[in-house]
Amino acid sequence: MKYARYCEDMGYEYQYVRGCVDIRYNPDVILMSFTFTFYHRIYEKTIDYYLLKCPNAKIIVGGVFPSIFPEWFDKEKWNGTATNTESFVNVHIGLDVKINDLVPKYNVDIVSEDKLYDRNYLPMYSSRGCINNCAYCVVPKIEGKIKCFKSISKYLEKAKIEMPDAEYISMYDNNFTAQWYIEDIVNELVEYGLPVDFNQGLYAKLFVKNVHLFEKLKYKHLIRFAYDREEDLEDIWKAYKTFTNSNVSADFFLYMLWNFKDSPEDIWNRFMECKKMIDEYGGTIFIYPMKYEPFSPYIKKNEYTGEKWNPKLKLGFQNMVTRNRGFISLSTTDYVYRYIGNSSDEFKSKCLDKGTYKKYKAPEGIMTV
Ligand code: SF4
Repeated sequence: MKYARYCEDMGYEYQYVRGCVDIRYNPDVILMSFTFTFYHRIYEKTIDYYLLKCPNAKIIVGGVFPSIFPEWFDKEKWNGTATNTESFVNVHIGLDVKINDLVPKYNVDIVSEDKLYDRNYLPMYSSRGCINNCAYCVVPKIEGKIKCFKSISKYLEKAKIEMPDAEYISMYDNNFTAQWYIEDIVNELVEYGLPVDFNQGLYAKLFVKNVHLFEKLKYKHLIRFAYDREEDLEDIWKAYKTFTNSNVSADFFLYMLWNFKDSPEDIWNRFMECKKMIDEYGGTIFIYPMKYEPFSPYIKKNEYTGEKWNPKLKLGFQNMVTRNRGFISLSTTDYVYRYIGNSSDEFKSKCLDKGTYKKYKAPEGIMTV
């Protein structure tokens, strides 16, 4: 969207596309943005598609994946090495300073391979980087230490003109709770009036400190946190207690990392801790288990198995989660035990069943337990 603004400012003809689509003219330059390494096959297919379709265009790839693995693009078929100026595919490493400070073009037309693609929200961020350095995360490697903007008003003002019917704001800060000017930014969001979704999750420890600010906002259904490691336990308990005693009107949502250094026992214990929190404070917790995938284009998606898992256990838990549309929600009932068992051993045996028995079907309906 920032490149769209740049092209508009420069008077260039441009088109914003997602995936492999018919384009309306022959471009001189095609800029592609790639993030997740596990989509490398899709990215390769997309590059090949546009090389064939637009043989005279210069292709430049940027984003997280090319910035960390530029050598992956040194393919013979693309006549490429990172230093070869004749390469068909050129890599841009890091941020592009010429567009970094531009306001995105919120109403840009997007032609997508996915016909159902529709964006009804305003993507925004008020900081880059993070104060933490979690071993499973690429943010510190790509964006470094946190850097914060004091205001996002110029973005909000433009967004109001260009997308007046937007339904909510999606904040993409990696760690919004660590924003140096959190109060200023929250006040701007409150004044704008739309519900907010902190897409990347809030840091439980700092949420407790700033709950009075989060009470001022409207939410797009969820307020998201991460319970990625056993050592997060105390902070999550405090955050849940604070949340249930607050006026924050949203559902409590937890990202839960697995398949990293954890074991099936750890995951089961984390579920049980969430159940204890609900038994103590009431309410519902929506858990979104996120399988760790190493950040490497040399490992296929689903290929990696954490050292304390095995492929069947991993597949079984994955099936359990997928059949429930990605979520496991816990409430005050004891229904949860039907799914994940009454002990970690039972949980493992259920995972093994679901990882072995191909015709396994989860019970009907969305799993709310
Ligand atoms: S807190 Fe979040 S964004 Fe920051 S390093 Fe950890 S996982 Fe990454």
